[in-house]
Amino acid sequence: MKTAIPCPNCGTEIPIETDTLLKGSRFCCGHCGASVGLCAGSRPVVSKALNAFDTLKRQTRQYRTEH
Ligand SMILES: [Zn+2]
Repeated sequence: MKTAIPCPNCGTEIPIETDTLLKGSRFCCGHCGASVGLCAGSRPVVSKALNAFDTLKRQTRQYRTEH
């Protein structure tokens, strides 16, 4: 899933790929060069949040089909 997160240093939106982020890759800010990434401890949290988001999307789709 493609998304963007604000740079912690300058606030510029950094385009990221969540799958890649969860694998431990870091992304660089195109403006100031700061790198952002997840520490190992926060990966399960983000993964869980993304799963919840997927479930929500599926439920929304079901709702549309039924009505
Ligand atoms: Zn930056």
